[in-house]
Amino acid sequence: MSQKKTFVTLEQLKEINKTYPTPYHLYDEKGIRANAERLKKAFSWNKGYREYFAVKATPNPFILNILKEYGCGTDCSSMTELMMSHALDFKPEEIMFSSNDTPAEEFAYAAKIGAMINLDDITHIDFLDKILDGKFPETMSCRYNPGGYFKLGTSIMDNPGDAKYGMTHDQIIEAFKILKSKGVKHFGIHSFLASNTVSNEYYPALAKILFELAVELKEKTGVDIRFINLSGGIGIAYKPDQEENDIAVIGEGVHKVYDEVLTPNGMGDVAIYTELGRFMLAPYGCLVTKAIHEKHTHKEYIGVDACAVNLMRPAMYGAYHHITVAGKEDAPCDHVYDITGSLCENNDKFAIDRKLPKIDMGDYLIIHDTGAHGFSMGYNYNGKLRSSELLLKEDGSVEMIRRAETPKDYFATFDFCNILDKLNLK
Ligand SMILES: *Cc1c(COP(=O)(O)O)cnc(C)c1O
Repeated sequence: MSQKKTFVTLEQLKEINKTYPTPYHLYDEKGIRANAERLKKAFSWNKGYREYFAVKATPNPFILNILKEYGCGTDCSSMTELMMSHALDFKPEEIMFSSNDTPAEEFAYAAKIGAMINLDDITHIDFLDKILDGKFPETMSCRYNPGGYFKLGTSIMDNPGDAKYGMTHDQIIEAFKILKSKGVKHFGIHSFLASNTVSNEYYPALAKILFELAVELKEKTGVDIRFINLSGGIGIAYKPDQEENDIAVIGEGVHKVYDEVLTPNGMGDVAIYTELGRFMLAPYGCLVTKAIHEKHTHKEYIGVDACAVNLMRPAMYGAYHHITVAGKEDAPCDHVYDITGSLCENNDKFAIDRKLPKIDMGDYLIIHDTGAHGFSMGYNYNGKLRSSELLLKEDGSVEMIRRAETPKDYFATFDFCNILDKLNLK
């Protein structure tokens, strides 16, 4: 069993605590940069390659600006994500709009800022036609869903047949024909078949499906296919006994399939796009929280000052997040605890029956791998406020990249009545 390492020490946490109270999400700038560099290198064989970072994973302008330095664009699925990308001066071709069940005003805004629209369904062509008054952009993308189970070897990775996303094989052929007749000149294909895959085989297997589809689409519709978007789904090793993905091996795996399928069919200039979220950020963020209560009843509980509103993955999916007690990295894990938050919900537990060192009140608990789908899935249940986000910079200093919410933020949507006055929050 490998040991999962933290990127921050107890001494650093004590120093941070002088300015910023727990709980907070802390991000590792050095780790984010080194990983972005590795990804870029892994796909450097493809001339048009671009990563469109899935904004929903970590919608923070400071993080997006770091990734931008490595040539990343953004992948958006809502109005505010589009607005954030636009405000940060991402160029139109650097903004992908891969949404589903899309409201009309979001399509309209995406078109206005020139973002690349990735259609989730064939019926969205007519929907968009009305919004754009028949004036389609030159380049459009469509999302494919082959149905059935997605398998690698004999193991089932996910169940696309049960997923709401994408068009069937026949629909995407039809969609390309219709879009072509409406004046669209260049096309992209997108698909997302399995989430959080911890296997170097996922992307190459997905690439094979999409590359073969691209060849077929070109033959049957005669359209110009400019890019193939492998979307997200590359996972991370949340558990200490999992072996991490090797992005260099993944990039080479896709390269091999590209040379086998696309190049011989005269499609050796197609760009590869990715929309990674989890892989880009998850390991480079952690949730730092303090032990504030211990409870000895039918089980041993440690109550911390964070709760599921700060990180809902354990409560929502029973997801495993490794926990390190800062300063006790080498102490024996000879205690068994449930680590709980304060919500009035019994699933508000960061860990159940977890073997950990003895925890004392005031200890800092580092909850690993919260850099993606962590803060961003937060909410305000029980009137809880969202925490701050902090960036541990390469020089060891700490920058606040989002302040914590205050009660004034919580009550802000009542600014049309007198409650803010009564609370002296105006
Ligand atoms: C969520 C999502 C992603 C990112 O997925 P990860 O698993 O975080 O890599 C990419 N594209 C689309 C369309 C998504 O919905």
